[in-house]
Amino acid sequence: MKIVSIVGTRPNFIKLAALIDEIKKHKIEHILIHTGQHYDTPMSHLFFEELGLPKPDEHLVSSGDRNLSEQREFLKKIIKAALEKQKPKPDLVIVVGDVNSTVAGAEAAHDLGIKVAHVEAGLRSFDKTMPEEINRIRTDEISDFLFTTEESGNKNLLNEGISKDKIFFVGNVMIDTLLKHKEKSKKSNILSKLGLDKNSYAVLTLHRPSNVDNKEGFENIIAILEKIQEKIKIVFPVHPRTKKNIELFDLNEKIKNMKNLIITEPLGYLDFLCLMSNSKLVLTDSGGIQEETTVLGIPCITLRKNTERPVTVEQGTNLLVSTDANKVIEESLKVIDNQIKSDRRIPELWDGNAAQRIVDILLMELEGGKKQTG
Ligand code: UDP
Repeated sequence: MKIVSIVGTRPNFIKLAALIDEIKKHKIEHILIHTGQHYDTPMSHLFFEELGLPKPDEHLVSSGDRNLSEQREFLKKIIKAALEKQKPKPDLVIVVGDVNSTVAGAEAAHDLGIKVAHVEAGLRSFDKTMPEEINRIRTDEISDFLFTTEESGNKNLLNEGISKDKIFFVGNVMIDTLLKHKEKSKKSNILSKLGLDKNSYAVLTLHRPSNVDNKEGFENIIAILEKIQEKIKIVFPVHPRTKKNIELFDLNEKIKNMKNLIITEPLGYLDFLCLMSNSKLVLTDSGGIQEETTVLGIPCITLRKNTERPVTVEQGTNLLVSTDANKVIEESLKVIDNQIKSDRRIPELWDGNAAQRIVDILLMELEGGKKQTG
């Protein structure tokens, strides 16, 4: 059996790491295509090293100045060319998450008549202004195997008319990777490097277009940070997109003036995991970090109006607060003063075995299909 996995961005590398470890245990020919969406050391190479990912068989170049739909089209074209080169033709293409490489990979494979598996299917924010929501809907529409992380995903897919036979509730590969690396992350020296004490600082990540792509929205967040950093140190590993917009909107001075805001490059996985695990709270607009903080038991204030991961709010530590300045400051102060809910549960099947479930299902379905047709 021959399986091609497609990755392009930081969260893809983290999710696929667990799956590749599992694929390696079986008699499967595995090909890794890196689309080059994230390409530099802090956003890509570091993760290959730390997570033991194999060197990509194909490393494409997709960076450059393109708008969103141009980038999706360009990615699709280069992935399609890479897939066409594969002899024999792959039995399956795996895509993960909701980035442009995900939908482009799914479309390229679908056009070539190759079956598609989408890992992390069915999540919906019901906000079509988010590029990720468009990517999720389109990817699910054309996938043959839809692997879901939470019950809401199953419900959303059924509501969209996707056949029950294609939906498999397996758990969360991002959490597989977290559980596998948690022990190792304790050896990171990031706290001493940044001069931090356990449980005495907040971690911030920001990169959603709705928060960082317009000046007014970004300035609102800066005003929030100015208040919160009066109470607690905030560590802010700055995503490249966010860095670009800090320059563009001329916000450097305001950021530098905050004495308790510690700016860093994007961190490697182990350092970041260590940083989150020992923090008092996390402020974020990331998708994956809402899930990771739920498993780590760290309060997470989500700077968004909606989430495609409702289980993290219903069962986990996620507080979906929006970017209303008063609300964010109020909720953050509650966390800092320890006035928060403690009845947290780990969501169903977030147990470190999602990748194993996925590979078992794929082997059964694909081998079974081959026997029937062969
Ligand atoms: N992450 C990391 N270093 C950082 C920030 C985040 O390793 O400096 C990890 C984080 O632990 C999570 C993933 O990157 O596993 C989340 O990626 P991101 O927020 O970029 O994407 P999203 O989840 O929003 O799609």
